[in-house]
Amino acid sequence: MRTLIIAEHDGQHLNEQVARAVTAAQQWQQPVDILVAAAQPDTLAAQAAAIQGVSNVLVASDAALQHPTAEHLAEIIVPLAANYTVVLAAHSAFSKNVLPRVAALLDVNMISDVLQIVSANTYVRGIYAGNVLATVQSSDSKQVLTVRGSKFAAAAKDGAAAEIKSVATPAAPAGSRWVTEAFNKSKRPPLAAAKVVVSGGRALGSAEAFAEVLAPLADKLHAAIGASRAAVDAGYAPNDLQVGQTGVVVAPELYIAVGISGAIQHAYGMKDSKVVVAINQDPEAQIFKIADYGLVADLFEAVPQLTAAL
Ligand SMILES: Cc1cc2nc3c(=O)[nH]c(=O)nc-3n(C[C@H](O)[C@H](O)[C@H](O)COP(=O)(O)OP(=O)(O)OC[C@H]3O[C@@H](n4cnc5c(N)ncnc54)[C@H](O)[C@@H]3O)c2cc1C
Repeated sequence: MRTLIIAEHDGQHLNEQVARAVTAAQQWQQPVDILVAAAQPDTLAAQAAAIQGVSNVLVASDAALQHPTAEHLAEIIVPLAANYTVVLAAHSAFSKNVLPRVAALLDVNMISDVLQIVSANTYVRGIYAGNVLATVQSSDSKQVLTVRGSKFAAAAKDGAAAEIKSVATPAAPAGSRWVTEAFNKSKRPPLAAAKVVVSGGRALGSAEAFAEVLAPLADKLHAAIGASRAAVDAGYAPNDLQVGQTGVVVAPELYIAVGISGAIQHAYGMKDSKVVVAINQDPEAQIFKIADYGLVADLFEAVPQLTAAL
């Protein structure tokens, strides 16, 4: 049997995490195919075909896939799943939306945010905001799962081109439709893929402080900006910058936590970072337990000094 990866993309580029999902998929030692569902899939299909370890790229093409809904994607994936024992995607807002619906329609379990694939049906995943690692086993004939991209190296993108095949694309179901979406346009690297992340917490106190204190440091380091949930809830930073259990999971080379306490729900989203630097005025703050380097200081003094020194 085979493994099917559902590709996430923005219409022009495959998401970086797809190549990581391909590495995860190699654990089953069976052919790996990628589904690209898009309004204009040609470029995307070529990118998928170049990923090493991919046998076939299945292309579903339909104008409605310019803005795909979970309902439409599920209608495409479920019939294809007959040929696959494993359907997987990298863990993200996209896959969290689509794959539980696919699993429900296939009447199998959804296994989310897998950190390690122990065997063909046994996985390690975090529970209690990542504080406990549970080993779970599925007895389903089909495995539907999302994998934590940062736990798997990206497959090389210089593979011999895989075969590209068109598949039947059912029309979008009538029950739901895309209405609108809003993006925060930024020159910074995308948070989930950035090599350096500078994150701010409630201690910043305002959106202006994010712009005036945090942004210059991020600019110097070519970093993405992140935020704690408390900072997002207070309106200091937009929702898509939230790092943590209910936000984005990041694993950069360098994570600088500024005025963040280090609550477990925040740590869940950043503790795989290679080097963690914390700036907090409370020496007892939880963040210092996960930081490689800690600076006990007032952020409003320390951050401008650090920025000036860089
Ligand atoms: C179900 C659930 C899901 C959640 N998901 C998330 C999530 O995804 N992401 C997330 O971040 N949180 C999440 N939370 C919230 C989490 O529990 C914390 O409340 C939140 O992370 C706290 O944010 P904070 O560290 O910015 O604020 P605080 O806890 O208020 O910490 C502020 C820190 O700043 C320090 N400080 C204050 N002034 C200064 C100064 N001038 N200079 C330096 N340091 C200073 C303080 O010592 C303190 O440590 C979730 C909670 C729940 C219940």
